[in-house]
Amino acid sequence: MAKRDYYEILGLKKGASDDEIKKAYRSLAKKYHPDINKEPGAEEKFKEINEAYDTLSDPDKKARYDQFGFDDPTGGFGGAGGQGFGGFGGFGGFGDIFSSFFGGRGQSSTQPRQGADIEKNMNITFEEAVFGCKKKIRLSIDDECTACGGTGAQSKNDIKTCTKCGGRGRVLMRQQTIFGVTQVETACPDCNGKGKIITKKCSECNGKGRVRRTKDVEITIPAGMQTGMTLRMEGYGEAGYNGGPNGDLYISFICGEHQNFKREGQDIILNIPLSFTQAALGDTIEVPTIDGNVALKIPAGTQPGTKLRLRGRGTKNPKGGSSRGDQYVICNIVVPTSLSSEEKKLIEELGNVEKKEKKSPWEKFKSLFK
Ligand SMILES: [Zn+2]
Ligand SMILES: [Zn+2]
Repeated sequence: MAKRDYYEILGLKKGASDDEIKKAYRSLAKKYHPDINKEPGAEEKFKEINEAYDTLSDPDKKARYDQFGFDDPTGGFGGAGGQGFGGFGGFGGFGDIFSSFFGGRGQSSTQPRQGADIEKNMNITFEEAVFGCKKKIRLSIDDECTACGGTGAQSKNDIKTCTKCGGRGRVLMRQQTIFGVTQVETACPDCNGKGKIITKKCSECNGKGRVRRTKDVEITIPAGMQTGMTLRMEGYGEAGYNGGPNGDLYISFICGEHQNFKREGQDIILNIPLSFTQAALGDTIEVPTIDGNVALKIPAGTQPGTKLRLRGRGTKNPKGGSSRGDQYVICNIVVPTSLSSEEKKLIEELGNVEKKEKKSPWEKFKSLFK
């Protein structure tokens, strides 16, 4: 069956304002609420109204719906019938009226829920970041109480089915609301919606089913970690509720620096000093890398600031893959500040040759101004 347009359901035109949407929903919800309207089809109608309002009252969903209709490429409306409205619980933004009307929102205290995530920062050294390492981290987390297995009861015999709700966790109550006296389903006040009553609390957790625990977690940090990167460790967060999964642990890294190696993503930068003769005549030198020394050919006529590449001598990608970055060697030409008499003699000879042949860079520069 083709779905009806959400604006049409609420009796509105496309482009209706937030206030108009809210007003239309209020009056239609009142009219078709199954606790008031016992006519056949009222419940279906009520669900339809809620589905429409759920989308049109959410700025993000509304924008997507306005643009794409039901053909949202992000899958926002995927699946027949849209989002579930089990037990008329899933209202958003209308709590002011409906929380009293429905006796509490959909979130039942017996539903499984994921535990909270934990976020941590961690400092590691340059070497640990580059080569990877194992580290222990100490967490103080809410964990399931092992004494009672999370039930909160001293023993199995101390868990009794709630007599008020017969274990359902919900009870029907007559209530005075803005729509008149109605019978509504609400969380059982005796068991707080749990359906069970604990007659003797677990002495370890005092009935909470959870304990604060210090936990050491070993973390394998992959090689090539960079400052600002985050590692997600699934299931290492706080314990879930009612059998729900644990939260996750997120660790953000701050990587130490090296005296000489600088990191740029997966690449490593190293500045080296060269003498004038090495730069002029060329040389082969042993350059430090993170793997140890590697031979590097300095071509004759190397200029100050020249960047030479050592392929594959950078770091790995911590997100996987076998390819490594490169190391870039930046050549600085160092002018000597003190000379032995032999060095001085040789350089003076070189100077005389340059003068005679008018070949020095300075001679060439000066000739531009003649
Ligand atoms: Zn316990
Ligand atoms: Zn109960």
